[in-house]
Amino acid sequence: MNTKIWIVDKYVDNLENNPQVVEAARFLQENEVVALPTETVYGLGGNAESDEAVEKIFAAKGRPSDNPLIIHIADKNQINAFVTELPKKAEILMERFWPGPLTIIFKKKDGVLSEKATAGLDTVAVRMPDHPVAIALLKKCGLPIAAPSANSSGKPSPTNAQHVVEDLNGKIAGVLDGGPTGVGVESTVLDCTEEIPIILRPGGITKEQLETVIGEVHLDAALSDEASKPKAPGMKYQHYAPNAPLFLVNGSREFLRRLIEEKQNEGLRVGVLATEESVEYYHGDVTIACGKRSELESVATALYETLRNFNQEKVDIIFSEMFPNTGVGHAIMNRLQKAAGNKIIHE
Ligand code: AMP
Ligand code: MG
Repeated sequence: MNTKIWIVDKYVDNLENNPQVVEAARFLQENEVVALPTETVYGLGGNAESDEAVEKIFAAKGRPSDNPLIIHIADKNQINAFVTELPKKAEILMERFWPGPLTIIFKKKDGVLSEKATAGLDTVAVRMPDHPVAIALLKKCGLPIAAPSANSSGKPSPTNAQHVVEDLNGKIAGVLDGGPTGVGVESTVLDCTEEIPIILRPGGITKEQLETVIGEVHLDAALSDEASKPKAPGMKYQHYAPNAPLFLVNGSREFLRRLIEEKQNEGLRVGVLATEESVEYYHGDVTIACGKRSELESVATALYETLRNFNQEKVDIIFSEMFPNTGVGHAIMNRLQKAAGNKIIHE
């Protein structure tokens, strides 16, 4: 398949009638799949009402079929078609954080969405992306769009259109290139089917932000305890992994320097994920400043691109600094731990 690349300036007016957006919307209506920019990462969109389109998403990504997709909408009223109840807390959160990186899980009305999109569950995950190109596309096609991250399953999520092309060229109908994404890590997934909502996946909206608006919020036990079964089916898979083994290092800069030297003495090409504050301390073969520790949002923005860069540099092993488990640091650590398959070296 020839994958079309449509370059779109996200700042122009009247995006809904931009010829590239119009063509991409037509592809979606014809049950083809196209990648689109959102404020978190690039998504791979398909008509959520069509088994055919949803099957194409799973096939292109190589995604396990038991891992349900997030349904993207441009207008809050769209959810009434496929959700049975709108809990008060969810309504408050939608008002405050949509459009934005918050996915809410609702009880599902049967018979509207493809069962494959929701992996046969009786709940459905929904969000409204905060990106002008995504919103224009959703409005133009008029459909609920199922969209997981537009990477090959297991790889780091794409934060620009080039990453999508690296993984999915020839496997999808097209890519709307709206420039690099901003937040850099995926949405927070919040289960609002329980009285006290539960974070199933930490992301762009922090626990602290949610609690300011609706009071107590729980964390799925699996986020802190490896033995618990995660409530989000996708959270049990290894994800985001670079090609070389990644180790998180819990210790001083001096300790990390010694680890790097040790591996270099064994003849390995060593990658180091550092920050702007620490990059000068390390002499890895490839040392990358992944944002600024003093601004964790910048670490989230740069994270996946940094992991992909280690692949291009063909390192044999990667060491990464660790980050505080609060605010957006929670999402960063969750992704790093998954990318590392939980390999942590303690000083
Ligand atoms: P991705 O599409 O790659 O951003 O991943 C979406 C995440 O949301 C995965 O971890 C899914 O397992 C999770 N998810 C989607 N729908 C549901 C649902 N109905 N219940 C629980 N988790 C869900
Ligand atoms: Mg994903």
